Amino acid sequence: MEKEYLNQEREQIIDFGLKMLSAGLTTGSGGNLSCFNRDLGLIAITPSGVEYPDLTPDGIIVMTPDGALCQGEGTPSSETGFHLALYHARPDVNAVVHTHSPYATTFACLGREIPPVHYLVACAGKKVSVAPYAIFGSMELAESIVSTLGDDNAVLMANHGLVAVGETLSRAFDTAGEIELVARIYYQSLCIGTPVTLSDHQMDNVMEKFKTYRLPQ
Ligand SMILES: [Zn+2]
Repeated sequence: MEKEYLNQEREQIIDFGLKMLSAGLTTGSGGNLSCFNRDLGLIAITPSGVEYPDLTPDGIIVMTPDGALCQGEGTPSSETGFHLALYHARPDVNAVVHTHSPYATTFACLGREIPPVHYLVACAGKKVSVAPYAIFGSMELAESIVSTLGDDNAVLMANHGLVAVGETLSRAFDTAGEIELVARIYYQSLCIGTPVTLSDHQMDNVMEKFKTYRLPQ
């Protein structure tokens, strides 16, 4: 099989996979990443069950938006379904990062959304909602994530983890990291007191300011 598609994207997937591991956003082969080159109509996605340090460019899977395999050794991520569903639902999204980061996942396991206790919640939206539970790898999970995410950029997956999306892999990764930080701060705040949440109006202002402060990457 020819291995000539998405060379840059496949290298990026490996770089951000390793970053995901070193940032403590996942362990082992948990979580997955993908990016969509809309000009070429091709998606690069992590393979299933390979630990991040063992990833090679030839091991990154390349597929069409309908899931037809173009190249790559091994099998695509078990969560390919929700990656593809997100690209179909959101024309502004070119990258998806899924983590099992511990603080965000703690709230996901409580079925508890993350309110705007810190302005950085605006990376995701006015809050981080919880997509109802469905078993991993299922179409039900894809539907749950897409419908709960709406126009936001991150969503908790009940009893599972976090999904962040963005126009680039770098942006989706940053959002996953910022939401993990906010989840940790929220958890710590709950441990010693009652967190103060920002108002709807205050969050409107933050989100407006992010349009120029968080420049496209
Ligand atoms: Zn997962």
